[in-house]
Amino acid sequence: MSKGEGKDEVKEEKDLLRVSINMNLEYRWSGGSYYTKFYRAWKEERKILGAKCSSCGRVYLPPRLICGDCYKKIDGWSEISDKGTVRAYTVVYQPFVDPRTGKPRPVPYGMALIQLDGADTTINYFLEENDLSKMRIGMRVQAVWREELEGNITDIIYFRTIEE
Ligand SMILES: [Zn+2]
Repeated sequence: MSKGEGKDEVKEEKDLLRVSINMNLEYRWSGGSYYTKFYRAWKEERKILGAKCSSCGRVYLPPRLICGDCYKKIDGWSEISDKGTVRAYTVVYQPFVDPRTGKPRPVPYGMALIQLDGADTTINYFLEENDLSKMRIGMRVQAVWREELEGNITDIIYFRTIEE
């Protein structure tokens, strides 16, 4: 690329017509055998299941087919608590459209990597707490569930701080 080409590309981009459209794309997808078992237990029994490697014992949440540590097919299940420990956290101040709802999510809000009791992995989820001065690595949290479960991760509204 010569020196002038980059500038021309930027200028052309500014001159492009921008069209704003809203698209409503509804779709269904198969969760496969692992996610079917996971979400059935979730919705029908209000249980969180992790996939447990029978070779090394590692428990994955969300469940996965192959163990990342020993590369064996995972064929076991293990019940996981809805209580856990915050391993990393942040507070989000930048507004954006939540892809789960299609609506702007009110800011600020807390996000954390949470290791639920019984799992060896973390999930990334919303916190009720959004004050950085009240957050710390190792704080204990518990899921706050919707009354009526839909069998979706959004059945958990957020994780609230608990004292134990
Ligand atoms: Zn393993």
